[in-house]
Amino acid sequence: MLIARSTQEAHLYMDLHACVCGAEDFEREHRLDERDGVLVAVYEGVCPRCGRARSFAFRLTDELPPAPPVFGGAEASRIIDPGEFLWVGDQVATDTGLRLLHTPPAERRDRREGSAFALAAVEEVLKFLPEGADRVPEELITSERGREVFHKNPRRFERAALLENIARKRRILEGVDHFSPPPGA
Ligand SMILES: [Zn+2]
Repeated sequence: MLIARSTQEAHLYMDLHACVCGAEDFEREHRLDERDGVLVAVYEGVCPRCGRARSFAFRLTDELPPAPPVFGGAEASRIIDPGEFLWVGDQVATDTGLRLLHTPPAERRDRREGSAFALAAVEEVLKFLPEGADRVPEELITSERGREVFHKNPRRFERAALLENIARKRRILEGVDHFSPPPGA
């Protein structure tokens, strides 16, 4: 059974697991189910491209889920590996970065969500780092996508590189907040 620390983690997991036809998205109906005395979040829908039924079930952890965009508490994810999180951070940061460049500073608030999401994804990678280790152990990366990211540049999984990545993303967020503060601030 898949174990999710939060709704946002469950959704990201589903986003990362495309239909066999390749389509990533599907309209998700959500319900809570009880299976063997355990509360389970079930997402079901139909693939918009090929019509196959898509279905995912997640057991939710007992810890209180964090507010989005944070994916979970101090404990590392059990369903998304560190390579996938770094990949997500890259994708979203690149996309958001391009949009930010084309948005006047005072109007960047609309782009804040993407920046915060990318930051949250990279912060997840750090949770896989064992205490005292300099790099995320390769064996923790189990997905094909994650391994691709790792083999392209293993040094990005070093503690120093991750902290630098996080610091850079925090500076971008601070820039957004500075030039385009939330309404009422
Ligand atoms: Zn499909």
